[in-house]
Amino acid sequence: MAILPIVIGPDNPILRKKTKRMATVTKAVKQLVKDMVETMHEANGVGLAAPQVARTERVCIAVIGGKIVPLINPTITSRSKETDIDQEGCLSLPNVWLNVVRPVGITLTFLDLKGKRQERKLVGFDARVVQHEVDHLEGVLIVDYPQM
Ligand SMILES: [Zn+2]
Repeated sequence: MAILPIVIGPDNPILRKKTKRMATVTKAVKQLVKDMVETMHEANGVGLAAPQVARTERVCIAVIGGKIVPLINPTITSRSKETDIDQEGCLSLPNVWLNVVRPVGITLTFLDLKGKRQERKLVGFDARVVQHEVDHLEGVLIVDYPQM
């Protein structure tokens, strides 16, 4: 286990790279998830994505229903028409808080640590955290959203 350095800055190319899907959940991915959980705890976050620790796998972790859930190859397969606005921060953008408009509900598919395909419907805070983390996997940051 290890606490990993968190990549910082809206213009950092590491945070702007699109991640790569995993063919299988390898030992290296499981180790990455363990290290990311430890790193997120240390930083008091509610989510962390691989690019934030300078990795290129399509992997993130998010607090869903109060529990940390590892998401391998997460994909948002549907989004509600209804949106809401809330303030978000990011471990890669210290002291930045921005209002972000997002769909209230999503359907998410991903692989769990056993490589089993999962589908979850999420609403509210859980949906917001996961959308923020999936954005990271596409190289998108909260500073990219229009401010209103
Ligand atoms: Zn973030």
